[in-house]
Amino acid sequence: MKNFENIDVKSVREAVGLLQKFQSEKKSAAVVGGGSEYLQLMKVRVATPDYLVNLKAIPGMSYIKEESGGFRIGALTTLSELEENPAVRQRLLFLSQAAGEAASPQIRNAGTVAGNLCQRPFCWYFRSAGHNCLRKGGEVCFSVAGDSRYHAILGGGPSHIVHPSDLAPALVALDAKIKIAGPGGEKTLALEKFFVPPQVNYRRENILGPADIVTEIQVPLPKAASKGFYHKVRERQAWDHAIVSVAAVVQSSGGAAREARVVLGGVAPVPWRAAKAEEFLRGKKIDEATAAKAGEIALAEAKPMKDNVYKVDLAKNLVQRALLASA
Ligand SMILES: Cc1cc2nc3c(=O)[nH]c(=O)nc-3n(C[C@H](O)[C@H](O)[C@H](O)COP(=O)(O)OP(=O)(O)OC[C@H]3O[C@@H](n4cnc5c(N)ncnc54)[C@H](O)[C@@H]3O)c2cc1C
Repeated sequence: MKNFENIDVKSVREAVGLLQKFQSEKKSAAVVGGGSEYLQLMKVRVATPDYLVNLKAIPGMSYIKEESGGFRIGALTTLSELEENPAVRQRLLFLSQAAGEAASPQIRNAGTVAGNLCQRPFCWYFRSAGHNCLRKGGEVCFSVAGDSRYHAILGGGPSHIVHPSDLAPALVALDAKIKIAGPGGEKTLALEKFFVPPQVNYRRENILGPADIVTEIQVPLPKAASKGFYHKVRERQAWDHAIVSVAAVVQSSGGAAREARVVLGGVAPVPWRAAKAEEFLRGKKIDEATAAKAGEIALAEAKPMKDNVYKVDLAKNLVQRALLASA
């Protein structure tokens, strides 16, 4: 690991100020929450910052507050705290389950909600120091000619990574918002708009600027008569990212879907909203046939790579299963 200096900041303002200073001095710096993901990248020298701005010492950034319209979740809240929070379990069980599906208990105890949403891709070419891939400044996405078993089937190109977070599909299905502090002050935007597809920029996964920090996630309660479901398929039952995951939230009225949100993980470089399937479902009774049709529609634009054709049927079936469970 390259030598670096760790700085424990005491406020968001201090963190933003330091990041701005390092940027103007042309020094490389990164923020860390739990460090569970970023330190892995440093160990293999994929990330080589001069400074780590450690947010963990900032007081009051780890909280889950229930308000009339939903929850506010502090950026430093750990995945375990989210998983175990009684109010979240009561009102948004599938969000708690999504948090509990991530990584291992040790990582969930250290890893934060913000770190989970900002984690870098778990593509083996990206995480290997020996491959100067497109996302690291090189000219090739090695998955195209190489091993593409776990890569994108939707929205890929020129980079074919998949979005790794379990929380993100569940939060996007819930229409969550993300609050960001930076040199220009604070802003709040739909979480869906936070993620950057490779066609816009293939070197980054989100819109954060070099001195920006995620401070909070806001989760509205689903509308009355809504039900949500999260399901993840992975190769091993522990420590493993999703091969395919699906989050669905369906609001029912008179036996039909008034509104449905369907979001897939593990299949595209960003959490993938199946907008055409959502449109198809509006006003329909969700049964085996409509749920299966929605799965077909959700994957109609899939362009599997040479080694991951299997993901298409898997994703179709998961969409069907998630919708039947949510209806
Ligand atoms: C072996 C392993 C298996 C895993 N499996 C899964 C899985 O199955 N599902 C899943 O969802 N995740 C998985 N993860 C990822 C895990 O959830 C993350 O490591 C963890 O949530 C990251 O949180 P952290 O606070 O430790 O982030 P850090 O390691 O501190 O940071 C991660 C990234 O987020 C950025 N960051 C952190 N906090 C902020 C902030 N407040 N504002 C802006 N940027 C920030 C950092 O700069 C860095 O780029 C796995 C990780 C490992 C190591």
